[in-house]
Amino acid sequence: MKGVRLKDITKMFGNVHGVKELNIDIQPGEFFTFLGPSGCGKTTTLRMIAGFYYPTEGKIFFDDRDVTTLQPNKRNIGMVFQNYALFPHMTVNENIAFGLEVRKFSKAEIKQKVDQVRELVRLGQYGERKINELSGGQQQRVALARALVIEPDILLLDEPLSNLDAKLREETRIEIKRLQAELGVTTIYVTHDQTEAMAMSDRIMVMENGYVQQIGTPQEIYNRPVNRFVSTFIGESNTIEMTITSIDGEQVVAETGPGVSLRGRLTNSSPLAPMHVGETVHVSIRPESIQLGGGENGLTGTIKFVEFTGMSVHYLVDISGITFKMMSINTGGELLEVGDAIRLNIPTRSLYFLGE
Ligand code: ATP
Repeated sequence: MKGVRLKDITKMFGNVHGVKELNIDIQPGEFFTFLGPSGCGKTTTLRMIAGFYYPTEGKIFFDDRDVTTLQPNKRNIGMVFQNYALFPHMTVNENIAFGLEVRKFSKAEIKQKVDQVRELVRLGQYGERKINELSGGQQQRVALARALVIEPDILLLDEPLSNLDAKLREETRIEIKRLQAELGVTTIYVTHDQTEAMAMSDRIMVMENGYVQQIGTPQEIYNRPVNRFVSTFIGESNTIEMTITSIDGEQVVAETGPGVSLRGRLTNSSPLAPMHVGETVHVSIRPESIQLGGGENGLTGTIKFVEFTGMSVHYLVDISGITFKMMSINTGGELLEVGDAIRLNIPTRSLYFLGE
């Protein structure tokens, strides 16, 4: 397993930038995810690491080795694509063996390695099956086996679950995580699905329009988003504009025009947030952090909308003309109803002050 370092990477396509001034340091054995909406530059970055694109500027290192312009087949990487790129009329064994044959391993070695990795992905009995006789989930595992059999230093996964249905996606993401932990292979994962990214990654890089917005652990990204883009892209968020009216020691008071005045904590803020009296600042409040009943930031509101999803209940609540999303876990009790007047609390630790 190897570390991957991208230093000041920019990729231009004519006048259009794919990615700009990218700096990433991925640790050996890390599960690192590129997350962002369509067109943000995830695939472009992955392709540069694979060697299919060369950067316009900057350098790429595997450990200390400069691989910026090294041929893809000399990088010892395993790749799984969204469409798997398997040979449909060949068997599972033939598909898995492909990379080993290219590398001129002996027949005996190939058999031993293919058998071993087929067991690893739990396709023990399927060696002689043709690809077009397998389910989508099984094909996905063949693609993974084919990438792993060459014992890559780095595993690159580009939206590998997007062709699977919801239930299978969940099962497969656990399976990939298990394999990755077992093998300890440095893994770079591309997805636009934030739940998948949160569930699988050691660290996530959130991208938008070719730029890095934030790099951090799933908890850091969720609990301490640096800016409005990250706070709204990851999970649900109430992102509201407020003006800071006072700062007293650790305590900050902010207002949303007339009506709602909330207390927060000075240190519960992005390094990019303008934490000074008189400044306009955006505040992120997660729906699940709003509590029923009064408290340190007690408010009154009216229920405008109720959505029951089984595990949770989602509400829209009007508070002095601002609509807040609120979420609670279903415990089998009575639900609130549209029109109900409620008291609620937004704990001071739940206000997170964002950068732009
Ligand atoms: P998706 O999730 O849709 O795959 P992405 O985040 O992987 O998106 P990229 O495919 O990396 O995004 O694209 C980043 C930007 O670079 C986009 O604006 C895209 O239009 C542009 N781009 C990517 N490849 C090329 C190319 N070969 N020629 C011209 N522009 C390109």
